[in-house]
Amino acid sequence: MQQLEMLEKTDERKCCVCKEVKKEEEFTYHKIQGRQSQCKECRKELNKKYNEENKEKCLAMRRDYYKRNKDRYRELSRLRNKNSVKGKAVNRVNAAIKSGKLVRQPCEECGAEKAEGHHDDYAKPLEVRWLCRSHHKQWHAKYGEALNACTVRHWTPPKEAQK
Ligand SMILES: [Zn+2]
Ligand SMILES: [Zn+2]
Ligand SMILES: [Zn+2]
Repeated sequence: MQQLEMLEKTDERKCCVCKEVKKEEEFTYHKIQGRQSQCKECRKELNKKYNEENKEKCLAMRRDYYKRNKDRYRELSRLRNKNSVKGKAVNRVNAAIKSGKLVRQPCEECGAEKAEGHHDDYAKPLEVRWLCRSHHKQWHAKYGEALNACTVRHWTPPKEAQK
C-alpha cells in the first residue's frame, strides 16, 4: 500500500499496454476510476477498437431485429402506402387498367413501350401521364414529389375525379 501511494505521487507512469513510461498528464484522469493505466494514445486505440466492434454488434442487432420483424415492417409500410393519397392513386390506376377504363400508353417522351403511369397530382388519381422508367425518374428528379403525395390525410377525392 505504501509503495502504491509512492507510485501515485510520482509524475511518471508505466502504460500497461505499450509498457512505455510516460508523464502523468499522458494518462487521462477518470473521476470514478482514477488515473487510467493506459496512456492516452493506447486509450484512443482501444476506444477505436471498441467502437468498431460495437458498431458491428449494433448493426448486427438491428439487422437481426429487422429480420425478426420483417413481416410486421412490411405490413406497416404496405398499410401506410395503401392509405396514403399516393398509394390510393396508384391503386386506382391499377384498377382502372384492369377494368379497361385506362389503357397503358407508350412513354410520351421517347415512345418506349414499357411505361409507368405518372401523376402530376395524386389528388387526381386517374389523370396520368405515361413515362418510361428513366423518363419517370427524370421527371421526379426535376420536379420532386408530385402534388398531394402524402400530405393530405383523410382525403376523399372530389366527385369529378371519382368518375
Ligand atoms: Zn500506451
Ligand atoms: Zn421515355
Ligand atoms: Zn411519377
